[in-house]
Amino acid sequence: MDSRCDVIVLGAGPAGLAAALRAVRSGASVTLVEASDAVGGLCRTFESDGCRYDMGGHIPFFRTDERVGWAEDVLGDDLIWVDRPVARVVGGAIRPGRYIDQHPGLVPDAIAPDGTAAGEFGATVGPAFRDRTMRRYLEKVDGWPLEVISADRAVKLRDEQRAPEGFWFPPGGIGSLMTAMEQAVRDEGGDVRLSTPMTSLHHRDGRVSAVEVGGANPGVIHADAIISAISPGLVVRAAAPSAPEGLLPPITMRAVALVYLIAEREAVTEEAWIQVDDPRVPFSRIAEFVNWDPGMVPAGRTVLCAEVYGSGADDDPWWSLDDDALARAAADALADPLGWVDDPSAFRALRVVRMPRAYPLVEAWRMREAMLAPTWLSSLDGLELARGGTVVTAIEAGESAADRAGGAVMAGAA
Ligand SMILES: Cc1cc2nc3c(=O)[nH]c(=O)nc-3n(C[C@H](O)[C@H](O)[C@H](O)COP(=O)(O)OP(=O)(O)OC[C@H]3O[C@@H](n4cnc5c(N)ncnc54)[C@H](O)[C@@H]3O)c2cc1C
Repeated sequence: MDSRCDVIVLGAGPAGLAAALRAVRSGASVTLVEASDAVGGLCRTFESDGCRYDMGGHIPFFRTDERVGWAEDVLGDDLIWVDRPVARVVGGAIRPGRYIDQHPGLVPDAIAPDGTAAGEFGATVGPAFRDRTMRRYLEKVDGWPLEVISADRAVKLRDEQRAPEGFWFPPGGIGSLMTAMEQAVRDEGGDVRLSTPMTSLHHRDGRVSAVEVGGANPGVIHADAIISAISPGLVVRAAAPSAPEGLLPPITMRAVALVYLIAEREAVTEEAWIQVDDPRVPFSRIAEFVNWDPGMVPAGRTVLCAEVYGSGADDDPWWSLDDDALARAAADALADPLGWVDDPSAFRALRVVRMPRAYPLVEAWRMREAMLAPTWLSSLDGLELARGGTVVTAIEAGESAADRAGGAVMAGAA
């Protein structure tokens, strides 16, 4: 079926939902297409065994009161204030504050930044703190030496993922904000099509004109503006006619296994989210949902999400384990070496979610190559890109893409 609207939005993660909401509220007719059968992208909340739990620990790092007010308005409910900063493990003990937050603020032996995470941390927290504290944690998460990880990654980790006092959180999980955004788009007349992947992007004479979609609602949708809130690589591959060659250098994707452990007992910790740099522990971060919103888990039970980062390759020591063995290894680590529980056999696997391509890693010296695809896409009139490394930066990217798309819609109407 062919159809027409002012703005097409590709992908219903936080960026796409925010873009669609902003565009529809500005008076545009909007079609939002999403490949999967539910909105939220990586920000989804699952429900099973009477418990609600998020796709990993998902702190929305709201940076302004306005954004908190915006979220409450969309939700039609108050956010919960979670009175806990991100915590970290030091010698088995849980301490408040991220590893990076322990820096005393003085950098007597600073070195010049050089585009790598090593250089960035060296310049801002000094080589001594970097090597004592940040190296172990970030190298465990990303699996590369700090000398290979890009400075951009270090900056985002340090500056965008800050919640030193605690954080505001949507009751019922991060997914509840996503479904509220979906509902708001529908209420304002937006057309949300789930199970509808974009399969091809039509462009001519440097301007986009339509997308072809498959799945549940196959057809061609024409529009004055298209907002892409999916990976630029996917859009470049879908370009018709084909994009110039050489825009897609090989990118390393980091794998994440989310191991959900459940036990019939009170909470193991008082924390929402804990960073763990000990290499003997399979997971690098662990979330305990009852400490985010007590309503997510029935009394007398607790659900933990251990985030196990890896290469996704067969020789990865944790990823290569089958789900049961990985869950056992995560539960055992709660007892030894962490010492948080006496009896790890009280924990069983509620679910294991594997994301073999959870996020891209770009070597510091290849950042320019990684920008080729977004740069070419941005050169197409009528196409706006919206992506973010966190929930809130994704929402903000979606909104600004919708504002920019407004110009193309006005031009189309003129
Ligand atoms: C384990 C984990 C923990 C995290 N923790 C945090 C945290 O604590 N705080 C935080 O702020 N951020 C966190 N993040 C990051 C956060 O999830 C992302 O930054 C955010 O989801 C990015 O939003 P997005 O809309 O750009 O992309 P996504 O959420 O990836 O959404 C993209 C959407 O596009 C859809 N799509 C893909 N291809 C197509 C196609 N061809 N056609 C149509 N639709 C398509 C996908 O199905 C998906 O729904 C975490 C991520 C992970 C993996």
